[in-house]
Amino acid sequence: MALTSTTVLNPRTTHYEFLGPPGALLVTVFVPITAYALYFGCSETSGGCPPRISYPAVIDTLSDPSFWKSLWDTQAALIYLGWYAFCVLAWAILPGDWVEGSQLRDGGKKLYKINAFSTFLLTLGLTSGYIWRFGPESFTFLYDKFIGFVTASLLMSVVQAAGCYAASFRQGALLALGGNSGNVIYDFFIGRELNPSIGSFDIKSFNELRPGLILWVLIDISMACEQAVRRGGSITDSMGLACLFQFWYVADSLYNEPAIFTTMDITTDGFGFMLSVGDLTWVPFVYSLQARYLVFKQLELGPIWTGAVVSVNLLGYWIFRGANGEKNDFRNGYNPKNLKYMTTERGSKLLISGWWGWLQHPNYLGDLVMALAWSLPTGFETPITYFYVMYFFVLLVHRQMRDDENCKKKYGKDWEKYTTLVPYRIIPYIY
Ligand code: NDP
Repeated sequence: MALTSTTVLNPRTTHYEFLGPPGALLVTVFVPITAYALYFGCSETSGGCPPRISYPAVIDTLSDPSFWKSLWDTQAALIYLGWYAFCVLAWAILPGDWVEGSQLRDGGKKLYKINAFSTFLLTLGLTSGYIWRFGPESFTFLYDKFIGFVTASLLMSVVQAAGCYAASFRQGALLALGGNSGNVIYDFFIGRELNPSIGSFDIKSFNELRPGLILWVLIDISMACEQAVRRGGSITDSMGLACLFQFWYVADSLYNEPAIFTTMDITTDGFGFMLSVGDLTWVPFVYSLQARYLVFKQLELGPIWTGAVVSVNLLGYWIFRGANGEKNDFRNGYNPKNLKYMTTERGSKLLISGWWGWLQHPNYLGDLVMALAWSLPTGFETPITYFYVMYFFVLLVHRQMRDDENCKKKYGKDWEKYTTLVPYRIIPYIY
């Protein structure tokens, strides 16, 4: 009987995404490789962005054991572990309201502690005090030991994804509808359990907002400190802009913490390597590429170019926050702007005016415009600093396709009706 109800609640996944197990394996291998490649392909230690080295020299480096040893840094790994422990401790100690997440398939609702923003403020307070007391040169270790930190975060991602995968086989675990295929490689990647937790500590939402996102800001601060040390105390306007935009993005996400509870990551995806490596390695170490580049390419933009780049960022932010705010309010039972909506046969409603009446994913467009604004301060000498915009475009188109599939399943004919009313997906009149 128990087995039957478990099977009903956790049906087998019969439809693969990411081209199935081979695709999942490919992404699992290529994400870490790309994180390293972006460092070695764009850094002063390796000779530029991209470095001018020959193919045989690359082969020589890769066949040299000292290269592989250089990826590991015990001190960086210990600092990383300390950082992770600090985030957990802050979650446990700092006060915060407990809010309910979306309705789960088993009828229940999870409770989440809201204190990501106060964790951020505490971190910033401690970091500023430290830099003020010991000088910017004391906070350049994230720049100096960058690759060691990448390795440490990767190990953390693998350990967590493997641990959650193993724990998902216990009796009573609620699985993600997409992560229960029975194929180890695929389920490990996609995430088998929907909400792995230790007591009231929800691993997925914790990783989504704290150790990676806040670390991204710390890395940017470290890059600014490195530049300031080299320039005798000041930073360039380009470094200021790149850091400020990203700081703002992170602060905004943390301040609006409850908004993540209606995102696909939380409502649909399990917690597997896809999310653990995305949250812990990809976000902090790949998204900080622009600031890292500006350490050794010290560009001054001047007031006109600065004004233009700020305008692009503000435009993106306006769309992004407006769209996410409208959906979040609406999904939480509010409709302050009196937006029009359609009621689906399933009972839930879809907005058909405001941002969501303009595009199917207006929030993705805003995010993309901001991504462009973060790369513009690096100028046009190399395409590598535009990696984030290009990758993000691919990611969001793929994400839109995944969400479209899910919504088709969820809403059936109502989704067809919505997509007829709102035909453009991410870019008006184009896509
Ligand atoms: P969305 O926030 O767009 O959520 C999609 C869900 O919204 C749908 O499944 C549906 O769920 C609901 N929905 C769709 N249309 C409507 C409508 N008309 N009215 C009301 N609800 C609707 O997607 P994501 O979770 O992918 O993205 C969340 C944010 O995170 C975005 O801003 C995105 O840009 C950002 N993001 C950032 C990343 C990064 O690396 N920086 C990576 C990925 C995302 P339901 O109906 O069940 O509520």
